[in-house]
Amino acid sequence: MERILVVEDEASLREGLLEALAGAGYEARGAKDGHQAEELLARESWALCILDIKLPDMSGFELCRRLRESSSLPVLFLTAFSDEANTVKGLELGGDDYVAKPFRLKELLSRVRALLRRAGSCGAPGEAFESGELSMDLKSRRMERGGKELFLTHKEGQMAWMLMNAWPYVVSREELIRCIWDKDGQYIEDNTVRVHASRLREKLGTYEGQPYFTAARGVGYRWNVPVKK
Ligand code: CA
Repeated sequence: MERILVVEDEASLREGLLEALAGAGYEARGAKDGHQAEELLARESWALCILDIKLPDMSGFELCRRLRESSSLPVLFLTAFSDEANTVKGLELGGDDYVAKPFRLKELLSRVRALLRRAGSCGAPGEAFESGELSMDLKSRRMERGGKELFLTHKEGQMAWMLMNAWPYVVSREELIRCIWDKDGQYIEDNTVRVHASRLREKLGTYEGQPYFTAARGVGYRWNVPVKK
């Protein structure tokens, strides 16, 4: 069972999240502040951390920054600030995704599943994402259109997988860079993501006259065609 740590000082919200996560089949535990969270993070093993930004003893950003010195554990921020500056700051500090308060539990659970899939081994052979005429095998990340293989580069395959995995939500540019390029601290030219995205879009073609994914201006990219997972 995948273990999720919920760091949230507001007791009613924390309990609600723990209950919802347990109901969805996860083993969830709560921490009420940054110090308790750091203790639990150091002592036990986790698959994901849901991290509130405003904690009584330190900010969630600070906790994430400290965690990133020794761990690549997926972090999902809960943010009451819906403004882009804070979101971008969180993602730059190594957060993997964020959900703005107030959120619906269904949305939060969908983000949690997407992050865990991304962090994990990505499913058993034979499991696939289906979207429009496309099908992507989760294990090999090979993509087919109408039964014919599309030859994607490794990076294009990763990008397509991340966008389908996150559907119907946006994947930020920072997240794409960190997961596809930045593993070795490689320097990325400003237009690298755009160039790869437009090549990928060309290879995928259109579905009912629309591209499979489009740019979400200033943020990243969003897959448009429903994905059966
Ligand atoms: Ca709080």
